[in-house]
Amino acid sequence: MAYTIREVVSYLEQIAPPAYQESYDNAQLITGNPQAVVQGILCTLDATEEVVQEAIALGCNMIVAHHPIVFKGLKSFTGRNYVERTIILAIKHDIAIYAIHTNLDHVAHGVNKKICDLLGLEKTKILAPKKGILSKLVTFVPKNATEQVLQALFAAGAGEIGEYSSCSFLLDGTGTFTPSQKANPHIGSPGKPHEEPETRIEVLLPSHVERQVLSALKLAHPYEEVAYYMQSLENEHQEVGAGMVGELAVPMSGEAFLVHLKQSMDLKVVKHTKLLAKEVSKVVVCGGAGIFLLSQAKKSGAQFFITSDVKYHEFFDAENQIVICDIGHYESEIYTKELLADILSQKFTNIALYLTKVVTNPITYI
Ligand SMILES: [Zn+2]
Repeated sequence: MAYTIREVVSYLEQIAPPAYQESYDNAQLITGNPQAVVQGILCTLDATEEVVQEAIALGCNMIVAHHPIVFKGLKSFTGRNYVERTIILAIKHDIAIYAIHTNLDHVAHGVNKKICDLLGLEKTKILAPKKGILSKLVTFVPKNATEQVLQALFAAGAGEIGEYSSCSFLLDGTGTFTPSQKANPHIGSPGKPHEEPETRIEVLLPSHVERQVLSALKLAHPYEEVAYYMQSLENEHQEVGAGMVGELAVPMSGEAFLVHLKQSMDLKVVKHTKLLAKEVSKVVVCGGAGIFLLSQAKKSGAQFFITSDVKYHEFFDAENQIVICDIGHYESEIYTKELLADILSQKFTNIALYLTKVVTNPITYI
């Protein structure tokens, strides 16, 4: 069975909705024709010129990258820097580049879960759950249509809370209305006041599916005019946000944990602050630049905070309350290409999937 670029993109967007990306980000299809049939996918942390060359050599016409090659608007395409050259090469060879960036950082089975798995961390939770991405729908349905409307709302993406699905609150009541002479009422007659036993349905939903939930509601609801309220909520979404905290099955000393960290993630260098006297049982991870999470990491009660791109003065902020480890940006996220291939292989069993062999790290160590 053949799949288009668009089908692959929409699957990835179900896993990591674009609405979950940061405002500065550019997680989307950056080059490529969405209607083209996928010939093969190359998974990578960075989509550089060398990676595009590799895709051409492998016969792949799609690259799925964590880091977007383009962040800001490009004003010329003359090949004067690596960004322009990469885009030119991709377009010339009909290579689609799709970036799945901070949206993949923010989901519960994304970049940070992969790091937790490598370190053997259990009971993982999002460290800083995002606010302002949940909504509540309230609607009123004649009693005999409650089930059909509920099922339509659930199918459109409402009613999921953590490991629970089909979540709703139902309350019996009475709806009243008087249809006008021009109305075509499902129940009742024009000009006559009517009372109808109704159910008040309340469901939570991610705000980015509001439109699809409302159209499902209108389609499934028997009334000519559907009464509802959609409200934005301040609640945190426990399954979406930055950083992740997890626990070691068996606590260990700080020295032993550093050895474990180096081995599990195949690191050459770990920059870290002074070790604490206590054993390590809880660890915070954030792939890429995560030092903005330091205060939440301390509050979580973790003994170690694994991230990258930490500046000199930021190391001082450890204050003997936590051990900050800078393992390198590339090193913290290189396993994301495996995560991408895993995600894609769960749905597209007959598309050739490759992991890049190009070392895109611009930093070397001596
Ligand atoms: Zn990164």
